[in-house]
Parts: sequence; structure tokens; C-alpha cells
Amino acid sequence: MDVNFGGSANAGIGTVEQLQEQHDTPIPIIFMSDEDGTIETRLRASRCGGEEFFYPAVDPGQLIEKIETYTHGNTVEPYKVLVLDDSRAQAKYMETVLKKAGMTAHIITDPMQIIHALEEFSPEIIILDMYMPGCTGMEIARVIRQQDRFHSVPIIYLSAEEDVTKQLHAMSLGGDDFLTKPIDPKHLIATLHNRGRRARSLLALMIRDSLTGLYNHTHTLHLLEQEIVRARQKQQPLCFAMLDIDYFKKVNDTFGHPIGDRVLRSLSMFLKQRLRKTDHIGRYGGEEFAIILPNTRPGDARNVLNEIRERFSELLQPAGDREFNVTFSCGISSWQDDNAQILCERADRALYTSKEHGRNCVTLAES
Ligand code: GH3
Ligand code: MG
Ligand code: MG
Repeated sequence: MDVNFGGSANAGIGTVEQLQEQHDTPIPIIFMSDEDGTIETRLRASRCGGEEFFYPAVDPGQLIEKIETYTHGNTVEPYKVLVLDDSRAQAKYMETVLKKAGMTAHIITDPMQIIHALEEFSPEIIILDMYMPGCTGMEIARVIRQQDRFHSVPIIYLSAEEDVTKQLHAMSLGGDDFLTKPIDPKHLIATLHNRGRRARSLLALMIRDSLTGLYNHTHTLHLLEQEIVRARQKQQPLCFAMLDIDYFKKVNDTFGHPIGDRVLRSLSMFLKQRLRKTDHIGRYGGEEFAIILPNTRPGDARNVLNEIRERFSELLQPAGDREFNVTFSCGISSWQDDNAQILCERADRALYTSKEHGRNCVTLAES
């Protein structure tokens, strides 16, 4: 919405204010303005549901990205919360409270089950009772923190302990919060939401590439390993594809690095839109992308990527008053009960074959 929609000052904001009155949940609005970026205008825009404010110019790439975040994946996954409490009654109560708040709860009452629960459930937040037979919550927290994967998972202690010194000591041993029993469900849920949100955004910084928002190299390999385990368990096919933009150096040299960056974002967005939610897309390196396609047969993977390759090559990439096309080459390997490294190597060789055969094509590795 143009801030001055219709011609007079702030008329666009006025229109949105009227619109929003008819809705219980405000519609997210992206405002843009080329002449008015004052705090008064920004405040008024933000108060009527303005989530973004573009001033003084709109960058088309950025605008598309914002639209993407509001239209795609705005279903928030429920938080996965692991509760360890030796009292079955207390644990059951927690389970009810968490489920009511729309969270996914996993309850254990035996501290010795913790390792197993971490592996099976992969919690995003952990709630630990302080005093249990056999060990304390603090000891369990230390053991959890010794595992890299759970180094930054929020840990919340739960106890009747009201001694602040003891609470602080417990926190120094790897905890993030301390809630005293009896807990107020509202307080608990608010704490979990705050912790969960922060943990997710920190995790996103760790596992995502900042330019494209895709998974980074390390996390892509981690996901590939997970999917191999799953394919083996479920006896399903699995494919791995590597993409490399053709003559990308020339794009940078001709149009400049920022335009090159925009091409990378445009390909990443294109892939996100064309692939299934269950596929994983990573930025493997500079202008290299990797795609994990679970439960996909090699022939289907080739067809999908060929289709994407063709459509992408038709996209006109804007550069000032000029336009140009970009293509990519692709290599696919299908999982043959081998490990992630071998799967990558085969895809990489297939990609190399595509490059040798003149680029802008897809090669399926021989099994
Ligand atoms: P080929 O068809 O053989 O793949 O040729 P190419 O030019 O794409 O391959 P080459 O490996 O020679 O060059 C890759 C270029 O990608 C070089 C590097 O400057 C550029 N590049 C890598 N990362 C980024 C990035 O984040 N942004 C931009 N704009 N360019 C990048
Ligand atoms: Mg390359
Ligand atoms: Mg290249």
C-alpha cells in the first residue's frame, strides 16, 4: 500500500485503517513511500498492521522476499518440549498444559531415559525437575550441554526451591530459566514461547545462509545423513542433486556483484517455490546449490529438475535497463545404500558431466 494512495498525504494509511476494522486479526501490510519516512507516519502505519515500511525506494528483490515470508511457511510449527519430572502426576499435569497451548510434549519420569529421549524426540526446549531420585536436574543439564547438538537448547528448571541463591547456582550450571512450583500455566507458556522463539531464531542463524535463507553447507550434509537413515528405515528411495550456475563469473563481471547476488536469491526462491515441502534445499557453496529429495525415484528427480532448469532459464533477470538469462547445470545421484559422502561425490561427478556436455542440462549418475 502506497502511504499516499489516492494522492493526498497518508490517505493510504487511512484506507488500511478502515479495512482493518473489519478484521479480527489484522492483515499484514507492506507500506511503501517515496517521500514520507517520518516517525509519525511510520508509527501510524505500524499501528494499523504495517509489518514493513519501504522508504524511500522499493527494492523488487526485497519486496518479493517479504511477500514470500508472509505467504509461505507462515504456519508456525508447534514447539517440541521435553519434560523430565519424577512425579508422574506433575508430569501428566505439564503434558495437559502444554498440549492445551498447542505444543508437542514428550514426558519422561526416569532421568536415565534422557539420552534416549533427546535422540528420539529432538526437543527444542527442555524442562527439568530439580530434585529427583538418583540425580539432580543440574547434573542432567550438564550432561545435556556436553552434547554439541543440544548446546543451545533452552533448559528450564522446575522446583519448589525458593532460595534465590540456590536458583542462581542452578542456572549457572547450564539452565536458562527457573520456575517455582506450583507453576502458573500462563507464566509457563509465556516463558516457553519466549525461549522457543529466541532459540529458533538463533538456530536459524546457525544453520541458514544469510544471503538466500537456504540451509548452509554443514546443515545440508547433516540433513542428508538424517534422510539416509530414514530412507533405510522406511525402505524408500532418495535422491541428491547438485546445481551449479553456468558462467556465473561472467554475470558478476558484466553486471556487478550485487546483481550476481540477486541472481542467487532468485534461484533460491525459484527452487523453494517449485519443490515440495519435504525436500531440503541448501546453498552448498558460492553459486552451488544442493537438493535432497526424499522418497523420490531417480527418473522422477531428473524430470523435476529438468522442468525447473527449463523454467529458470526462461526467467528474465533485470539489470538496470537491460535483461539477461541465466542457466544452471545439475548432477543427480540416487541413494544405493551408500553413505552421504559417496552420494555427494557421485552427484558432483554427474554435475561435472553436465558441464562437459555444454552446460544447461541435467545428468543422472549411473548407479
Ligand atoms: P561454470 O559454468 O564452469 O560453473 O563457470 P562459473 O563462472 O560459474 O564458475 P567459476 O567457479 O569459475 O566462478 C564462480 C563465480 O561465482 C566466482 C565467484 O566470484 C562467484 N561467486 C561465488 N559466491 C558468490 C556470491 O555470494 N555472490 C556473487 N555475486 N558471486 C559469487
Ligand atoms: Mg562453481
Ligand atoms: Mg558455475
